[in-house]
Amino acid sequence: MHDLKEKCGVFGIYGHPEASNLTYLGLYALQHRGQESAGIVSLDNKQLYSYRQMGLVADIFNESVLDTLPGNAAIGHVRYSTTGFSQLKNAQPFVVDYSLGSIAVAHNGNLINADLLRDELEAHGAIFQSTMDTEVIIHLISISKKKYLLDRLIEGISFIKGAYSLLFLTNEKMIAVRDPNGLRPLVLGKHKNAWVVSSESCALDLIDAELVREVEPGEIIVIDKNGLKSYKPFEERDETFCIFEYIYFARPDSIIQDKNVYEVRKMLGRQLARECPLDADYVIPVPDSGIPAALGYSQESGIPFELGIIRNHYVGRTFIEPRHSIRGFGVRIKLNSLKKVLNNKRIVLIDDSIVRATTSEKIVKMMRLAGAKEVHMRISSPPTTHPCYYGIDTPTKRELIASSHTIEQINTKIKADSLGYLSIEGMRNSANSLSVGKPDRYCDACFTGNYPIGYPKHRREAQLDLFNKK
Ligand code: AMP
Ligand code: SF4
Repeated sequence: MHDLKEKCGVFGIYGHPEASNLTYLGLYALQHRGQESAGIVSLDNKQLYSYRQMGLVADIFNESVLDTLPGNAAIGHVRYSTTGFSQLKNAQPFVVDYSLGSIAVAHNGNLINADLLRDELEAHGAIFQSTMDTEVIIHLISISKKKYLLDRLIEGISFIKGAYSLLFLTNEKMIAVRDPNGLRPLVLGKHKNAWVVSSESCALDLIDAELVREVEPGEIIVIDKNGLKSYKPFEERDETFCIFEYIYFARPDSIIQDKNVYEVRKMLGRQLARECPLDADYVIPVPDSGIPAALGYSQESGIPFELGIIRNHYVGRTFIEPRHSIRGFGVRIKLNSLKKVLNNKRIVLIDDSIVRATTSEKIVKMMRLAGAKEVHMRISSPPTTHPCYYGIDTPTKRELIASSHTIEQINTKIKADSLGYLSIEGMRNSANSLSVGKPDRYCDACFTGNYPIGYPKHRREAQLDLFNKK
């Protein structure tokens, strides 16, 4: 199975003379969603211009690169994937020429039937340039016999299953699509007369655009010189937005489903304090991901919040270790303890999740070395027992510690004085306590194993009929 592990961000703008510059800034704000490669495609005079590179947005784009991306519309993408598939040919947006002209696409999410569709397409002569799910979508659009792009898009998308927030740019239109379950985020904004679409609202803030609304699950939004049109051609399904975006992945300053991510994280921390109370001197966050939940825990429990761990924000993805090994170097280059705060104290250490437990083990040890008397670990989500197939990079089930260890066994491994997780109900209720109107429904498969749209099947199990359709 290729490319199961995508986590990405998309941004697009239509109707602004500085489209590629604003897209570059939008990608800057979405950098947390992917640090491996980035790209922008712009539209000028019915022609598409493209630039993609490996690396961070700040390193890839400069004024002379942006000068090669003219026009008043642009879409962009930031991507992260596992190392085996980190190649430039997989960087997005993809651009292809087909019978109706040129089309570019940027995708956040993962399809669960991409392999099957690829096999079928290849058996009928399609040649793929990349190993990405996203390319399958382009092929499906190009083989459609329908006359108009929108009909081709609807037909192509009706074959795909999975999580997708998509942005297309053609010779005259920008098109946004969100899967019927609304698994990955996508919002619509307005910047003066220009329409903006972004994975998260934090990118709208940066360019001074206003948040208009979510792109609704199952919605197709077409933007061109005549304005914006919305279509809902797919069968309606219950929305199951990814609850992990609230817990860890999205930026705390983003607003999703009318809820501020930071506020949700604080609620998760408050609920954690109710479910797993303690007597301790300080609540200490694991930076940065544990900070909002630690504030919530502190406010609910009355235990003072203190910073006991300081993060170096300038650490790149790789660094050269000294030849003579230094104890705990790997974690210490990113995080250091504040001995003055921790010495002789009973602490509650808060993080948002435990994946393999390597971070928690190292941090607990660091706390003890700094003199902490008791170290109690509290996690603002339930045990992560299942992998994600919908666009968040998680390891295989075997590597997820909670898939094979009880909470007690995990506690033994990380050598804390106690370990407590938030309950599944507590997690759902915390997120919903901030819902406007009816409670929201979520995907929480990585905690429950209930995959709302299933998971990738073995190639043989699927029955496809791409080429016999009328
Ligand atoms: P681990 O050491 O494997 O248990 O990782 C736990 C840390 O990774 C926590 O501090 C989380 O904030 C962070 N984390 C959780 N999920 C992810 C993810 N999908 N990608 C990157 N980091 C994550
Ligand atoms: Fe989000 Fe977990 Fe569902 Fe993946 S499995 S979409 S990370 S809630």
